[in-house]
Amino acid sequence: MSDLRELYQQLIIDHGRSPRNFGELASATHKKDGYNPLCGDKVTVFVSVKDGKVDDIKFIGCGCAISMASASMMTQALKGKNFKDIECLFDKFHSVVTGETEDTAGLGKLEVLAGVKDYPSRVKCATLCWHTLMAALTGFDETISTE
Ligand code: ZN
Repeated sequence: MSDLRELYQQLIIDHGRSPRNFGELASATHKKDGYNPLCGDKVTVFVSVKDGKVDDIKFIGCGCAISMASASMMTQALKGKNFKDIECLFDKFHSVVTGETEDTAGLGKLEVLAGVKDYPSRVKCATLCWHTLMAALTGFDETISTE
């Protein structure tokens, strides 16, 4: 295993153990529950949108280290972003974790999750929070399942 890979893994473990922006957000304008039955991961994403931008974002949930680390890093990456930025970032992130592209430019810290492309069953763990977020922002009512 390369040093970089090891560093990435440590970051995922760190975020998985002590997720950032973890908790309910009282001022949320958008909220959504998501579930990944394949692994049992559950997340609820809270977003407060102000002037077309993410003013604040938090999440709660339980699941594997990858699902929690991904949600933690996602919340860190999205503050101050508008819907278009978020859509672009999700698109990029999705292409990278599914192995469609190796180009991680623009992903920032989220790049550490790129390694899940080698573990197809883990891709849904990494993308659950994103699918849930997009559903929260676009206002679908049903609980989002990755199936
Ligand atoms: Zn999982």
